[in-house]
Amino acid sequence: MILFLLKLRLACFLYWNNYKKEEFDIMKNYNVDKIKAQFPALNRMVWDKPLVYLDSAASMQKPQKVLDAIQSSYSFNYSNVHRGLHKLSEEATSDYEGARKKIANFINCSDKEVIFTSGATAAINLIAYSWGLKNLLPGDEIIITIAEHHANIVPWQIIAQQKGVKIIAANIIPDEDFNSEIIKSLVTENTKIIAFPHVSNVLGTVFPVKEICKIAKDCGAISVVDGCQGIIHGKVDVEELDCDFYCFSGHKLYGPTGIGILYGKSDILIDMPPFLGGGDMIDIVKIQNSTFADPPARFEAGTPPIIQAIALGHAIDWVVEVGIDEIGKHEKKIISYGTELLDSIDGVKVFGKAPSKTGVISFTMDCAHSHDIATIIDREGIAVRAGHHCAQPLMDAFDLVSTTRASVGAYSKYEDFDKLAAGLTKVKKIFGA
Ligand code: PLP
Repeated sequence: MILFLLKLRLACFLYWNNYKKEEFDIMKNYNVDKIKAQFPALNRMVWDKPLVYLDSAASMQKPQKVLDAIQSSYSFNYSNVHRGLHKLSEEATSDYEGARKKIANFINCSDKEVIFTSGATAAINLIAYSWGLKNLLPGDEIIITIAEHHANIVPWQIIAQQKGVKIIAANIIPDEDFNSEIIKSLVTENTKIIAFPHVSNVLGTVFPVKEICKIAKDCGAISVVDGCQGIIHGKVDVEELDCDFYCFSGHKLYGPTGIGILYGKSDILIDMPPFLGGGDMIDIVKIQNSTFADPPARFEAGTPPIIQAIALGHAIDWVVEVGIDEIGKHEKKIISYGTELLDSIDGVKVFGKAPSKTGVISFTMDCAHSHDIATIIDREGIAVRAGHHCAQPLMDAFDLVSTTRASVGAYSKYEDFDKLAAGLTKVKKIFGA
């Protein structure tokens, strides 16, 4: 009886707490229900249950505005860009270049510094193959962190092995904010590149980007920021950060797949050789050699991802309309709530509790493997990620094989985590814990 009353009290507390929080958000003009209603995918059922989408760090769902832009661009003014002298091509070119301007405004740089790539992975490879092959010498060093996504490790390894360069990884403490002094202590006269995440895709730790970029500048190295999990949670101003490169993927910022952005400082880009050759990136082509266009065209060989770029521009319009800082504040509250809630469940261990943390909650359970957890709660309509999250060195450093990761977006609600908590109780039951 006492147990029943205690449970009832807890349920009432959670419900009331939730209600108050959602109300509070609405009062502050962040109406999460209104936002969520703009995402058709979030209104579907999964296994006869309403979808609870907690996999936004892997890929964000798309608002109707972006879906409409894709449909409309393909339906009314689709054509190849830059080359045609007809109306459709002019319109498509204007929309494509217009998207570049929107992105430049969004991150505060010149549109000449915005390169369209197929994603963040392609962007980092571009830097490695272009800047890296030209500038790195045997004995040089690249500093990364153990918290990198593989996209910010493997391209450097490929180049490092070709050029006789050493990769050094900074450690990270899962429950603490990252101290940039750790990077400082690894700098030597051979440091040429400092590459790091804006936000860890496993721990959610927010890195002190400005401080690390300053360390790079002071030692004459270039700074490369993997902004995939950062740009989605708050304002990014590349001028203020003073980074040399910043990259991200469109599909994580409410845009389509197949599009990414590489920002590079113009004085660095101008000295970089092309990475891919072909149409659109040249000045004059002869049989034996060619001269190249100025950036950004120099780095956009061939027919670009036209509609994807235009749709990313619309995604950014949507984000600006809602307010990126408002989205970030909302997500941080949800993450704090979810972290506390999951951490209070017996047998669940939340991995990563830095005060700056945002966006993701990684956890393990004593009784079950992450793949089993994800599979069981999928039947409750809950979508999470399970595995190494393309961060094997981080897993190795903390002796983990995998974690389960719940991640949020502008549309996430406190109740998503209540449902996740209920799902985990079911996992415990199934495994007899
Ligand atoms: N960096 C981080 C931190 C990520 O989370 C991801 C994707 O999950 C990537 C890089 C790679 O992005 P993409 O696969 O879109 O190129």
